[in-house]
Amino acid sequence: VSFGYEDVAPDEKTRRVGGVFSNVAARYDIMNDAMSGGMHRLWKDRFVRRVKPREGETILDMAGGTGDIAFRMAKRGAQVTVADINAEMLAVGMERAEKRKIEGLNWAEENAEALSFEDKSFDAYTIAFGIRNVTHIQQALEEAHRVLKRGGRFFCLEFSTTLWPGFAEIYDAYSHKVVPKIGKALAHDEDSYRYLIESIRRFPDMDAFKAMIGEAGFVQTRVEPMLGGLVAIHSGYRI
Ligand code: SAM
Repeated sequence: VSFGYEDVAPDEKTRRVGGVFSNVAARYDIMNDAMSGGMHRLWKDRFVRRVKPREGETILDMAGGTGDIAFRMAKRGAQVTVADINAEMLAVGMERAEKRKIEGLNWAEENAEALSFEDKSFDAYTIAFGIRNVTHIQQALEEAHRVLKRGGRFFCLEFSTTLWPGFAEIYDAYSHKVVPKIGKALAHDEDSYRYLIESIRRFPDMDAFKAMIGEAGFVQTRVEPMLGGLVAIHSGYRI
């Protein structure tokens, strides 16, 4: 499997991704604003509008990190389990939740590829900017399907490939020249951000990823591109 520009063993990728997020945890939120010019907030708002969290339902926010998606859903009355493989990201999230007095959250250290939850536990499963970091993506999708109840919904927010002509080149230049520099300046960590960019480049395109979701057993799979597909919301249902 790939890690940045290198090919590495699967265990090694999981370990290195762990290192990336441990390095950036403390600065993660500020970096998101810096790198997306604040746009990640709008993408996340739209994502949660699509998920339509309801009062009292149970949602698993996988790769939930510091809680951006989970907080938005908990504010709408859902019971959200924030699950992430990285304890440092979760620790930052718990601190933020406490400061903001957000209720209705559980926190769990979990690998998306092998969840500890029972079959059919959740009404919805969300994963935002998380799936491309997972070593075995198909396995994670199968786990998502397993833990969802019948009628449960799957939603994924992720970078993808923009189909707008011209935009791809600008984005490529931005991501290779500017992003690692911001990473260096703000987080003193150029390499982690190089990895993040490279992982975006290598992620399957919108149709290929949609097919993988279908492969995992989901139906009515859809994709909603934003900025021509620079970012995309994929969704499906378990029946
Ligand atoms: N969802 C949050 C957001 O939108 O701000 C955090 C996204 S952050 C870019 C990616 C997260 O994926 C990190 O917190 C990382 O620890 C987590 N992650 C990476 N591999 C994972 C895995 N195999 N299982 C669970 N979480 C994983």
